[in-house]
Amino acid sequence: MLPVPVLERAQKELLSYGSSGMSVMEMSHRSGHYQEIIDEAEQTLREIMGIPDHYKVLFLQGGASSQFAMIPLNLFRNSKKADYVNTGAWSKKAIKEAARYGKVNVVASSEESTFNYIPVLDPAKFDREADYFYITTNNTIYGTRFTDLPDTGDVPLMADMSSNILSEVYDVSKFGVIFAGAQKNMGPAGVTMAVIREDLVGHAMEMTPTMFNYKTHVEAGSMFNTPPTYGIYMCKLVFDWLKEMGGVPAMQKINEEKAQALYDFLDASDLFSGTVAQKKDRSLMNIPFVTGDKALDAQFIKEAAVKGMVNLKGHRSVGGMRASIYNAMPLEGVQKLVDLMKQFEVENK
Ligand SMILES: *Cc1c(COP(=O)(O)O)cnc(C)c1O
Repeated sequence: MLPVPVLERAQKELLSYGSSGMSVMEMSHRSGHYQEIIDEAEQTLREIMGIPDHYKVLFLQGGASSQFAMIPLNLFRNSKKADYVNTGAWSKKAIKEAARYGKVNVVASSEESTFNYIPVLDPAKFDREADYFYITTNNTIYGTRFTDLPDTGDVPLMADMSSNILSEVYDVSKFGVIFAGAQKNMGPAGVTMAVIREDLVGHAMEMTPTMFNYKTHVEAGSMFNTPPTYGIYMCKLVFDWLKEMGGVPAMQKINEEKAQALYDFLDASDLFSGTVAQKKDRSLMNIPFVTGDKALDAQFIKEAAVKGMVNLKGHRSVGGMRASIYNAMPLEGVQKLVDLMKQFEVENK
């Protein structure tokens, strides 16, 4: 979902942005108007995430999936070794990609139980010579998240925040690189945001394609080539919306309320149950749940769709249902789902 006020603002500005007389979609990325938009997008993102000055902000393309290659290509600068935590399908893809360029050490994994928990990390297994340490902060498919960040000492921490960026407060200074595809919590598909500590820029492996080198984009202010202009504009509107409603702390509070409403129901229900093994690891954004009966799951998804609640089918690896309650989903949306689950439980017990 995107916030309704953001879509309305985009609609209002669709034919002419400010005094420009043209749509943002028609602007040259080299125009003064567009420079203003991308500068404001970065400035507001810096404010709402509390990004320190010694971090660079990039708006890229290629999706979060391109970062699976950009991270190793740019960060394998000394030992060419990296530590990864395997907490789901996205981590697995990142591991597979990094292993093409260097040595990957999987320090922990929850794969043996369909990634339904965040493994406890044993710092004795961390490689102090690693060029970086990699985690996926929120595991979209399985509904888990890291509630404690690993202490990696001097080894820079990389984080795929695609599915929980801007949903809760993070101390950016604890990370070397944070990246996220925009399409889950920031804007439309097509923009990939990366926040990079500046000392980590400029050490890319020799073979790194120009477009995959962070330095290329840092030096050109995300304008080495034509950036995804309209997508960045939409992200800017989302950042403005978030700032106006009180920033990430206010958003986090709403997200906690939303998630609590659903988890409280799941914990009390005789029919539905959450699939995450430990409460501590529960995601605020993605909540998978099952009835334990595939036919009932299918019936629930069908009944929900009739009531306008769509995209509730869980990933095939987990089954059942998954409620993705990203930032733009209001509390009322979650309450409506809980009401339907209550009714469904009475009718199908
Ligand atoms: C969706 C998702 C991705 C993939 O993003 P793309 O932009 O489609 O490449 C990567 N990581 C996580 C955690 C995701 O949720």
